Amino acid sequence: MTTELPRASVVIIGGGVMGLSAAFHLAEAGYADVVVVEADQLGCGSTSKAAGGVRLQFSDAVNIELALRSMDAWERFGERPGFDVDLRQVGYLFLLTEQSDVDTFERSVAMQNSLGVPSRMISAAEAGALAPLANVDDVLAATICMRDGHANTGAAVEGYAQGARALGVRIITGCPVTAIERDGDAITGVVTAKGRIPTDTVVCAAGPWSRVIGEMAGVDLPVDPVRRPVWFTEPMVDLPHDHPFTIDFSTGFYFHDEGKGLLFGMADPDQPAGFDVELRPDWLEVVGEVAMRRAPKLLDVGIAGGWTGFYETTPDHNGLIGESSSLPRFFYATGFSGHGFLLGPGVGEVIRDLVMRRSPVVDITAFSVDRFSAAEIRPEHNVI
Ligand SMILES: Cc1cc2nc3c(=O)[nH]c(=O)nc-3n(C[C@H](O)[C@H](O)[C@H](O)COP(=O)(O)OP(=O)(O)OC[C@H]3O[C@@H](n4cnc5c(N)ncnc54)[C@H](O)[C@@H]3O)c2cc1C
Repeated sequence: MTTELPRASVVIIGGGVMGLSAAFHLAEAGYADVVVVEADQLGCGSTSKAAGGVRLQFSDAVNIELALRSMDAWERFGERPGFDVDLRQVGYLFLLTEQSDVDTFERSVAMQNSLGVPSRMISAAEAGALAPLANVDDVLAATICMRDGHANTGAAVEGYAQGARALGVRIITGCPVTAIERDGDAITGVVTAKGRIPTDTVVCAAGPWSRVIGEMAGVDLPVDPVRRPVWFTEPMVDLPHDHPFTIDFSTGFYFHDEGKGLLFGMADPDQPAGFDVELRPDWLEVVGEVAMRRAPKLLDVGIAGGWTGFYETTPDHNGLIGESSSLPRFFYATGFSGHGFLLGPGVGEVIRDLVMRRSPVVDITAFSVDRFSAAEIRPEHNVI
């Protein structure tokens, strides 16, 4: 017989940055009896595998608005929820080597500026001065935003978890959700490895595992896991202070300082989706060739380690945020395709508003999963 656990007003599935941010914001707004159910350990999914980049430079206005709200929150994270996330606003530098990318980024920067983002186009020479580790010989132009940078993902998880618990949220770890019960169009409960939780409201914040959670509820969430690698180097003797998070846009190769060395990554554009699919065995060699061109000093030091995680990818690389049109009170916040860490605070606020039936702080209608059944998708171009 299934153990019956106490009723919850909301069950949030997934204890990564999205689930914990949503829990914190709901509890802060006075929502009682919120439960977060995490299959393993808090933050163990994509969140702990992220490069920690936080930025305002997007090509889609909704992402920019969510990123602006999120950046305000990252900047004040020490006060609310009250934890140091080691936010380093060293800038995000996109290096552009194709004229078509320069044209696209010029349009994006104009839109970003119109929404209050202090990004700007700069010359290759200025980019080289800002990022002394980058070779800019073939760079046509670059963009920079000095409010961007990176933060510590583990501290963000810990901060939101502590803040949520202090406000009464129950967090259950080591507890996979196995079923979502419904009676017609109404959710009635969530079945977990530790028992059944009666509830009428579910938030899916299961990152790369969201498709499976959707299937449990009969809701199609087109999210595929795609393996992505990150490596970090041994200490560099003359590591420049405050080097910007630097991205070679045409290859997706990126790096930023991490401790006394560098963290770097590059995605194989042909990487097939799937939890069981490994990287190409020679992928690090391919990355090394790009690094030799773009950041030759990186090759002077050894690689100290690395890891792979999963992007939670959608067909147009934009997130899925909303309430299911087929199952009321089934909310989803997933599919952020490589930029979900930085959007965590803003999306948590939006989920709070949707659950509370308030008009959300950012209009996310365009991020409904229903867009895939309509004629038009809306691709986000600034994806690395
Ligand atoms: C290599 C790499 C680099 C990245 N770099 C950046 C970056 O620089 N900036 C940025 O913004 N983003 C980055 N990202 C993306 C970012 O990590 C994700 O978008 C974000 O962390 C998603 O958070 P989440 O809470 O939605 O998902 P997750 O952190 O994956 O959390 C989902 C949780 O759900 C749990 N779960 C799954 N199934 C169940 C179940 N049945 N029952 C209960 N719990 C379940 C999982 O265990 C997991 O903990 C990167 C990702 C990778 C892989």
